[in-house]
Amino acid sequence: MAGLSLTCTCGDISWSLVETVPRSGIRYICHCNDCQAFAHFVGRAADILDPQGGVDAYQLPASRLRFTSGLDKLACVHLTPRRLLRWYCPGCGTPVANTYDTSKLSFVSLPLCAATAQQRDRSLGPSSGHVWTKFGRGDLSHVELVSIPAMLWRMAFRIMSARLSGDYKNNPFFEPGTGEPIAAPRRLTQAERSELDRKVLAGA
Ligand SMILES: [Zn+2]
Ligand SMILES: [Zn+2]
Repeated sequence: MAGLSLTCTCGDISWSLVETVPRSGIRYICHCNDCQAFAHFVGRAADILDPQGGVDAYQLPASRLRFTSGLDKLACVHLTPRRLLRWYCPGCGTPVANTYDTSKLSFVSLPLCAATAQQRDRSLGPSSGHVWTKFGRGDLSHVELVSIPAMLWRMAFRIMSARLSGDYKNNPFFEPGTGEPIAAPRRLTQAERSELDRKVLAGA
């Protein structure tokens, strides 16, 4: 099966996902506070978030990801004191990927904002369900849920296997020698984060 080739809105950054059947990743819709805050951070909440505050995403081993252009243009930000880094195009605000802040923890989750619904379904199959619905908007009591412990277990297993096999070294977001992020992460101030939370609560 062909992979999925994506380009950010301004055209500066292009990447593709090499995925075959059986697929190595899991597709899910995340309604968490941080994904919503990030959509506001990049100024794209209106087109990134679905009406229920969700983001369609795909979690997979980082080695399945290739950049065809603009890798040097990527920017990244920490939205919280935790280790998650959110990568995006500074030119147009298109979200590209979420990773940890070190290549040793080989985890990548791709918000699928740059793909059409048809491309997502064709290349990655249907979504497995929703996570963090308590942060979502509207009535989400009837949607299918993905178990968060099961997802975390799967992620931990992947991180461990990538570490043991050496596959963690094939990660485009980190310098091969040092394992440091290829762009210096920005950390939001408390005030900047509060402003994003205010926008998330306002739902606009
Ligand atoms: Zn761009
Ligand atoms: Zn999220």
